[in-house]
Amino acid sequence: MTQILNAKPVVQAMKENLRQEVAALQAEGKAPTLGIIRVGSRPDDVYYENNIIKNCETVGIATKTYPLDLNISMEEFTAVMTQVNDDPSVHGIMLFRPLPPQLDEEVIKHLISADKDIDCMSPLNLEKVFEGDMSGLLPCTPAAVMAILRHYDIELKGANAVVMGRSLVVGKPLSMMLLQDNATVTICHSRTRNLPEVAKNADIVIAAMGRARMIDDNYVAENSIVIDVGINDAGDGKICGDVDYDAVVDKVKGITPVPGGVGSVTTTILLNNLVRACKSQ
Ligand code: NDP
Repeated sequence: MTQILNAKPVVQAMKENLRQEVAALQAEGKAPTLGIIRVGSRPDDVYYENNIIKNCETVGIATKTYPLDLNISMEEFTAVMTQVNDDPSVHGIMLFRPLPPQLDEEVIKHLISADKDIDCMSPLNLEKVFEGDMSGLLPCTPAAVMAILRHYDIELKGANAVVMGRSLVVGKPLSMMLLQDNATVTICHSRTRNLPEVAKNADIVIAAMGRARMIDDNYVAENSIVIDVGINDAGDGKICGDVDYDAVVDKVKGITPVPGGVGSVTTTILLNNLVRACKSQ
């Protein structure tokens, strides 16, 4: 019987823990607060912002929003970022991307205070992950994958993990996290030869390619744990993962669904990072 690695219990357990941590911080006189910087009013950003605010409320985290004009200059933006960086009542910063073309993300990722960088934009935080130091603010999607594996007691020590995708947002940092937990990691990409064969021999198969339903039963075996990071347009108004769930679900040991898997844990990782940031300030 395949184990469905649903996000819901992972999120519930993490939130219960966070509520206790937030209450403890409040008892010390600290009010964990997230600063949300939004440039313009893209419907996606507004939707995501409301979602984050609601999520923060469920664990007692306060929020401050900084809605900025779509045409804001780099100079004005820098002033706002500096103000939020220096504001001791804000412990973490979330900046929605993509940014309009006049704002240079390459510059901004160095501007954000690494201590408040809960979305892991700053190269300083990513660097720590590559050094094997997982004590800082972690990139949310890879950390969500790790939270699911941990919650469901998936053994990583000595396990063969195949990560399909080598982006700096998902594949590479996730590979470092798995390696830190003593998995033997193979990183695959679009030029990997015999990908089905490589994946089939792994204990843990992680799909992060952005290729709708590409992973079918040729890539898995009966003992595979399949983690689907992909979020793709299914073409029918719904989303689907990189894994062909229906083709695979009865042929593996465990699998994350889409929706209701990795993506649903990601926001809770943001809250986790915020509480970590607050504790360290
Ligand atoms: P990128 O497009 O930046 O990277 C995709 C990676 O997959 C690349 O390394 C690419 O290889 C590899 N790849 C593409 N096609 C193939 C193929 N046919 N075979 C093997 N490897 C392939 O994507 P992201 O890392 O940003 O995102 C990956 C997926 O995860 C997307 O579906 C995205 O929507 C989703 N995502 C989900 C999040 C969540 O919270 N659940 C958050 C962020 C992303 P190469 O380097 O050779 O080009």
